[in-house]
Amino acid sequence: MRIDRREFLRGAAGAGCALAFGLKFFHFSDDPAAYAAEVEQLVRSTCSPNCTGACGYMARISNGRISTLIQAADYPEDSYNPRGCLRGLSMMDLIYGKDRLKYPLIRTGPRGSGEFRRATWDEALDHAAGRLREISDKYGPEAIGTTVQVPGTGYVQKGAMVALAGLARWTMHHGYDQNGDLPMFWPMTFGVQSEELESLEWINARTTLIFGSNVIQTRLPDAHHLLEAKRRGRVVVVDPDFCSTAAKADEWMPIKADTDAALGLGMARIIIDRKLYDAAFLQDFTDFPILVRRDTGKRLLAGEVPALAADARTRTIPDYRSLFVIRSGNDFRILDPEKLDPTGAELEGEYQVTLADGSTVTVETVFTALQRTLADYTLDKVAAITGCDPAQIERVTVDAATNGPMHIIYGASNYQWYNGDLKGRALSLLPVLTGSIGKSGSGISTYAGQYRIRFNVKS
Ligand code: SF4
Repeated sequence: MRIDRREFLRGAAGAGCALAFGLKFFHFSDDPAAYAAEVEQLVRSTCSPNCTGACGYMARISNGRISTLIQAADYPEDSYNPRGCLRGLSMMDLIYGKDRLKYPLIRTGPRGSGEFRRATWDEALDHAAGRLREISDKYGPEAIGTTVQVPGTGYVQKGAMVALAGLARWTMHHGYDQNGDLPMFWPMTFGVQSEELESLEWINARTTLIFGSNVIQTRLPDAHHLLEAKRRGRVVVVDPDFCSTAAKADEWMPIKADTDAALGLGMARIIIDRKLYDAAFLQDFTDFPILVRRDTGKRLLAGEVPALAADARTRTIPDYRSLFVIRSGNDFRILDPEKLDPTGAELEGEYQVTLADGSTVTVETVFTALQRTLADYTLDKVAAITGCDPAQIERVTVDAATNGPMHIIYGASNYQWYNGDLKGRALSLLPVLTGSIGKSGSGISTYAGQYRIRFNVKS
């Protein structure tokens, strides 16, 4: 039987806990009745800060207070056990912290003086309502803005806030207007908010590239999945800092802060120049074969091409869709968005098209347009922008493109900074070009917080 270090430590920790509990539960007191009264309950609970991990905990209650928190380790999928981190284990400092607010306070001194008096809920609610009414009467109800942060963390109270804002005609912001929590490149590139991998899936990647995410420290309950991914494949960390995750990786690529977009474009160019891309995937699942007009940068519409216009008029498509054009053999063809049949579509090419008004324009596939953009991102130029070693960029890129599935973790510290959308769009090219999308252990993941377990990926 093979026991790895994690299982050994888990066993040792379990034995230690059992011993400690055993000594406490079965301790040799002179007064067992007094001890039984002291140990009241063992309660299954969760840690629920906005980290959103919701790790399961057992809370031991003694004399009406939590005396100990222990990871519950009762998830049906054993590789998730135990789950938790030191922040969760330190929750008692918050729950019983001396500054914790337990009842309403009304300020009595100047701002910052720390002078408050205790109030009843009725008084506090009347006070708040009165001040809000004053603002509303003086400046109009729209002068009061409300925001609900991450609706998923409390539907009832946040629903109540939305209802109140609607009734009182206050201005209401969406939670994400305020915190920019989610990566904008996702809807721009993929048309959905985000589709990150469940962490148990990390182990199915053969190459993991991490751009500005310190997984070992910030995703502690899932960090062991990354170490398992390293055992099965390669993990490369691209980060300005030799952070704890870089220290555990197969390779660290130091980079000048915030230059990931240039690196992503440079790596994409290498993949294309060396023909390491998955042409069939690009043809079937991306917009790369669609033709764009060189003069406007917009996609060519079937209605603009005389040979296709009559056919285009007969097609029924939703208002929000358009009939684009692809090149197939020697012909232009309509790409019907309701059928999406790109069979035979050329991935590369530049053509002349005579439009209905008699003018001629140059069109090219999206893939060809991308290649023209990437022409600026030579290895030397990318190395100069990013500070990365050109030989390392080339080796890591070729290695990643030829050892899939490729999984990219793009950290929140990176995508929540300036141009996070552009960096994300550039980095998305790497899994897209290599067809590492929609398969186990592949894709690009962005995590803001420690995500809770959402499904059992083994079943
Ligand atoms: S990962 Fe998040 S939810 Fe889990 S114990 Fe730590 S702080 Fe709590």
